[in-house]
Amino acid sequence: MRHINSLTNTTVKSLRALHERKYRRQSGLFLAEGMRIVMEAIDLGWSPQHLAFLDGRQDDPLVGRLIKAAAAADAECLAVSHDVLAKISRKDNPQAVVASFAETWHGFDQVIASNGVWVALDRVRDPGNLGTIMRSVDAAGGDGVILIGDCTDGFSVEAVRASMGACFNLKLVEISEDAFLAALPSWYCRHGQLIGTSLAASVDYRQADWAAPLIIMMGNEQAGLTDALTAAATQLIKMPMLGRSDSLNLAVATGIALYEYVRHAHPDKP
Ligand code: SAM
Repeated sequence: MRHINSLTNTTVKSLRALHERKYRRQSGLFLAEGMRIVMEAIDLGWSPQHLAFLDGRQDDPLVGRLIKAAAAADAECLAVSHDVLAKISRKDNPQAVVASFAETWHGFDQVIASNGVWVALDRVRDPGNLGTIMRSVDAAGGDGVILIGDCTDGFSVEAVRASMGACFNLKLVEISEDAFLAALPSWYCRHGQLIGTSLAASVDYRQADWAAPLIIMMGNEQAGLTDALTAAATQLIKMPMLGRSDSLNLAVATGIALYEYVRHAHPDKP
């Protein structure tokens, strides 16, 4: 275990740099904050590369458990000052624990092979929306999230934070729109459905066929789904808008669609 008080320490600088996508891609690492989330990640089989915790908290039973698990995974354990933790977290009041993990991306073949439910997001821009959607997909028993085109990073600090650790229990797939469209025939061949959501749809979401294997496809926050993605959907559905608002928030719309799926797939689940 190393003790670090210096704000200019190179490991501290490289962990802080993981707030930027460029450095995450270069290193293949991302940050997760908080004792519960880091412990859950380890319990799910993720191996931390670094574990930084507030120096002096080693005797806390939970921190002790984390240190033991991190050491068993050959992670570098760093006992750091409050200021160092604040520097890594870019927060005045950081969590007591921050860990780095290796990004794990999955291929579209995992989607093709699946019998479950996935959410596909067309150019999602807001990391808070993405994290909230990951949390909802996990809650609904989904397999993962497909990021189509130029999306915000699924492993950004903000997305991981908003997912409340759900990102560790899901598969994340990144794919261009062209590659997604080119792969769809294999999905349709397996009788996979692609439910597109659109304000222009005429079918009420409660009338749709929600049978899995299923991809629920959601549009960009500003522009909605592209024409090509809309045309590729096997069903196009809409949630009624009864007031003055012209659309629902993306993450809210995704949650409603996912739980309509749950209502059909698990009618007996309380
Ligand atoms: N101006 C955009 C449009 O015309 O599509 C609004 C996009 S909306 C904020 C983001 C996404 O949430 C939509 O592309 C759609 O996937 C989903 N969404 C929001 N409200 C919806 C509704 N009432 N019915 C179906 N999907 C909806």
